[in-house]
Amino acid sequence: MSTTPQKSWIPGADNSDFPLAHLPMGVRVRPDGSHALVSRIGDQVVDLRVLAEIGVFDDTKADRKDFAQKSLNQLIGRGKAVTSAVRTRLAACLDDDPGYWDLRSRKEIFLLPAKQAKLVLPIEVGDYTDFYSSIEHATNVGTMFRDPANALLPNWKHLPVGYHGRASSIMVSGTPIHRPKGQTTPGEDGKPGFGESKLLDFELEMAFVVGQGNKLGAPIDVKNAEDHIFGIALFNDWSARDIQKWEYVPLGPFLGKSFSSTISPWITPLEALEPVRLASPKQDPTPLPYLQHAGSNNFDIKLEVYITPEGGEPSKVCASNTKYLYWSMAQQLAHHTVNGCNLRPGDVCASGTISGPTPDSYGSMLELSWKGTKPVTLSDGSTRKFIQDGDTVTMKAFVDGGGVKFALGSVEAKCV
Ligand code: MN
Repeated sequence: MSTTPQKSWIPGADNSDFPLAHLPMGVRVRPDGSHALVSRIGDQVVDLRVLAEIGVFDDTKADRKDFAQKSLNQLIGRGKAVTSAVRTRLAACLDDDPGYWDLRSRKEIFLLPAKQAKLVLPIEVGDYTDFYSSIEHATNVGTMFRDPANALLPNWKHLPVGYHGRASSIMVSGTPIHRPKGQTTPGEDGKPGFGESKLLDFELEMAFVVGQGNKLGAPIDVKNAEDHIFGIALFNDWSARDIQKWEYVPLGPFLGKSFSSTISPWITPLEALEPVRLASPKQDPTPLPYLQHAGSNNFDIKLEVYITPEGGEPSKVCASNTKYLYWSMAQQLAHHTVNGCNLRPGDVCASGTISGPTPDSYGSMLELSWKGTKPVTLSDGSTRKFIQDGDTVTMKAFVDGGGVKFALGSVEAKCV
């Protein structure tokens, strides 16, 4: 579709976080308990199921029933050509051209105030993979826990390192986080500790959602990889550092990660991000041919993290950007499938913590407080090494460039 932003007939929409250039996708539960796929413009939620039932998407190769599902999976599994056609048609309904003029007189049947819409987890996540694609984050962690002179392990610049995460505990923004219990590193008596994690942390990540999958044994070529990515969403990959530290050798993260991750209710289609494409950082050494792709494969998306103490005001503790990611989403997807592994619609691949080059851009408390040695001061004067009970962690993301400006759906969770 054209990425030229057009004006909407909905008052104020084009100066909001959700202008016509954005049109994210999500799922609502209606008061009668049924589900509907939705989008958002200005302060209005657009019920796509209503539009589908009056035939608006009939010539897009989407089925009317796709819009009445509990998740986006069925629709996005049809592939990029279909989801792009739906997006183009939706934009035509909401833009200033008179093509769908008759809908305006019936707007109350498909628009409702965002505050009245109950949004749910927008995808059924069959599998969740977490990568480790920020060179700054990997370098910081390697420096803290291993050897500053050899912070990156020998494989890191040759492949996007990742592990298989837990899909069942991915929750939609707003779901509380329960502090996990687990084993921790033995003390002087040689016995492991056990109890609630004392080192609860967030990880600022961006997740991509797989649209059309691939068959077992049929890898996805890096050059076509974005055809298999429906969109992206902010993602907080909660981590218990003390549990993680004791358990992770030799098979990697387990209970220190699997207790929960939080995802935005709004998935932003890749098409909306075209205006803020940019080149990834230069890769040296050049990766193997199956990971090589020319052109602009990264995105300029500003990221922020806030901590709000119980009853207090939010303090910004981090400002980062997806442009720092060393490995692109296309490279992650090509690597994930190069062995023939099949991905399915709704699978989630998260980037790994996105840290930038400066200390105020680090995407976890582990790095911001440098393993607890440099407490972070909040606006009320209190300090944090890690996340305390009652704290709410909020992640925000913005694009501002190429003629478009909008905010991606935020991610928020309170530690209880
Ligand atoms: Mn992670």
